[in-house]
Amino acid sequence: MALDPKDQILAGSERVDKTFSFNTQDPTQPAQWWFQNTEEGLGLFVVFYTLACRWNRCLGCNLPSMSSLEKVHFKDIIEQVDAVFAIPEIRGKLGEIDKVILSNNGSMLDEITFPSTALFHLMVQLNCLLPKMNSVCLETRPEYVDWDELALLDRLLKERESDCHMELAIGFEAFDETIRNEVFVKGLSLPVFEKLLERMRPYGYGLKCYFMQKPVPSMSEEEAIDDIKAAIDYLSSSSDKFGVPINMHLNPTYAAKGTPLASSFQKGEYTPPQLESVAKAAASAKGKGLSLFIGLFDEGLAVPGGSFIRPGDKALVARLDEFNKTQNFDLLEEYA
Ligand code: SF4
Repeated sequence: MALDPKDQILAGSERVDKTFSFNTQDPTQPAQWWFQNTEEGLGLFVVFYTLACRWNRCLGCNLPSMSSLEKVHFKDIIEQVDAVFAIPEIRGKLGEIDKVILSNNGSMLDEITFPSTALFHLMVQLNCLLPKMNSVCLETRPEYVDWDELALLDRLLKERESDCHMELAIGFEAFDETIRNEVFVKGLSLPVFEKLLERMRPYGYGLKCYFMQKPVPSMSEEEAIDDIKAAIDYLSSSSDKFGVPINMHLNPTYAAKGTPLASSFQKGEYTPPQLESVAKAAASAKGKGLSLFIGLFDEGLAVPGGSFIRPGDKALVARLDEFNKTQNFDLLEEYA
C-alpha cells in the first residue's frame, strides 16, 4: 500500500539523517518571492507554501524545511496566488514582467503537493495579469510530468494574446551516476531523464536542469569541475538528439542548515567550491548546444561561513551576473 504523504516525507528525513523541522506559516501567503535578471528580461520567482517535497532524500537539500508537513488545501494555495499579485511591488510591475519562475520547493507538477485546481487558477491568473510574460518555468521532479498536464498547459498558453514559452525545471544535481544516486540519493536515472525529453518533444518546451557544483564531500575541486564539464557535453548531445532546448542552471553548492553536508562542513570535511572553479566549469559550455545560468544566491539557507561566496568575490559575482544576462563567453575567457 502506498505510504501516506506525511509518512513518505518523514521516511525521507530518516533515510538520510535530515534533522530540520518543517515550516508552519500562514497557508494563504507564499513562502518567498523575488525579482531576478534573466536572459528573457525581468523575472519574477515565486515559491508557494505547500506540502513538502515527497522525495525529501537528496543529501544537502533542506528546501523541504521551508514547506509544510501537513497538506495545504487548494483553496489556501489559490489565496496565495491572489496574494502574490496583490503585493504592491509586484502589482506595480505586472506590465513589465517577462518571465515567471514557479516553485513550491519541490514539484509543482506533483498534484499531491500542488493540486491541479490551484495550478489551473495560477495559469489563468498569469494569462490575465501578465501581458508581457514570454516565458514561464515550472520546477518539478521528472516522474510527476504527465502527458495530460503537458497537454493542458500547452492549451492554456496557446490561448494567451501573446506568445509564451514553457520551460520545465528539474534537479539533476550531479552527472556522475554513483554520486548522483548513491551518494546524493537523487533517484534520477538517465532513462527517466530521456523519457521526459521524449514526452516534452511534441510541445517544443524547454528544459532547465539544475546542477550543483561539488554537491558531496568526497569530490575534489577538480573532480567537481570535470563533473560539470561532462554534464555540459551530455546535455548538449541530448538536446540535439531529442530536439528539446536545454538550459543548465549551475548552482555552486553551499552547506545548507540542518543537512549532513552542514555537519561535514562543521567538521572540516567539506568546503564549498571556489567561485573561480564555477567560472572554469561554466567556460566549457562555449560553443555547446545549451544555455547556462549560474546561481549566485544561497536563499539564506547556508550555515555561517558555508556559502560559496567569500570576501573578495564581489568583482567575480558581478561578472557572472553579467554573463547570466548576456551569455557572453568573453567574460569567462580568462577561466577557460
Ligand atoms: S532536491 Fe528537490 S527532489 Fe530532492 S529533496 Fe530537495 S526538493 Fe526534493
